Amino acid sequence: MAAQTEESDCAREQTKAEQDVDQVRQRAVRDQQRLDSGAVSSPKDLESLQHEIASLAKRQGDLEDVVLEVMERREAAQERVGELTERVSSVQAKVDDATGRREAAQQEIDGEIATVTKEREVVAASVPADLLALYEKLRVQQGGVGAARLYQRRCEGCRLELNITELNEVRAAAPDAVVRCENCRRILVRTSESGL
Ligand SMILES: [Zn+2]
Repeated sequence: MAAQTEESDCAREQTKAEQDVDQVRQRAVRDQQRLDSGAVSSPKDLESLQHEIASLAKRQGDLEDVVLEVMERREAAQERVGELTERVSSVQAKVDDATGRREAAQQEIDGEIATVTKEREVVAASVPADLLALYEKLRVQQGGVGAARLYQRRCEGCRLELNITELNEVRAAAPDAVVRCENCRRILVRTSESGL
């Protein structure tokens, strides 16, 4: 935007400078016509008219230099506008691409959430209410993980290995009893690889 403003400022400046040149040129033409018409006869007036024509020529030259200088600045500004416009569209393309990928990922995640939520509902319906309540309570307390696998004598929730007393207690527990990790209090899920 700054480059565009500079470009339009230059355009205005150029128009103004060209008008200045035009004014001076017209006045010089009028003076020259008066001189050529022979209407001015007094030597003093003639001299002053010739003097004015000379100084108008000098002024016109100076103003034309101003026009050229403004035109150069305007060209540079136009180039800069073109360059920046190209960069803007290249960055915009990247933004569009990233936005598209983000939306696709969001859709994928939404789909996954819907599937997992449905699966969870099915599983939760098969869990006794008091056990589910305990699990929910632990899940809130333990950063989203209320139950952990007991794998090779280790609680996969807190990563601590159970000591021999704890292992013996787990071994002695009925298969359908709810056993908990002594360290993190999570529900321990026993499998054939629990190391019992
Ligand atoms: Zn634990």
